[in-house]
Amino acid sequence: MTTSAELLCPKCCDNEPLARHEISAPGVASKVTIAFCPRCRGAWIDAGALESLHELRQYIPHAGGNIMWKRDLTRGVCAACGDRPVLERLSVGAFGVDRCPQCQGLWFDGGELGPTLTDQGYEALLRALRQPAKSTT
Ligand SMILES: [Zn+2]
Ligand SMILES: [Zn+2]
Repeated sequence: MTTSAELLCPKCCDNEPLARHEISAPGVASKVTIAFCPRCRGAWIDAGALESLHELRQYIPHAGGNIMWKRDLTRGVCAACGDRPVLERLSVGAFGVDRCPQCQGLWFDGGELGPTLTDQGYEALLRALRQPAKSTT
């Protein structure tokens, strides 16, 4: 079965397809789909998936090495929206996250997902998401 809505990496220039991982756990009602880029180790979650991501944080595999890997990448475009709007950068304490201004999906560069999975990082991210993004262009 093929999915028509293939997600492409926001940051890799040659449209690297993302590999989706559905995370669920016994006794946890929610599940979450994370799309990892095999090349740059970034990770995409859809809008509204952040809460489930936090609930399931201990079950998230170090898939793609996102948690270990750190690299600074340029601004990217949305993985999910057809017209690929440019992601806006949010500063969250010591790390950062990219958000799609249109669908509100979130992109974590390699190394940015790990800090988000801690209680502190999650709280900081929720605070940041309530504020308008600072444009860096
Ligand atoms: Zn990539
Ligand atoms: Zn979008």
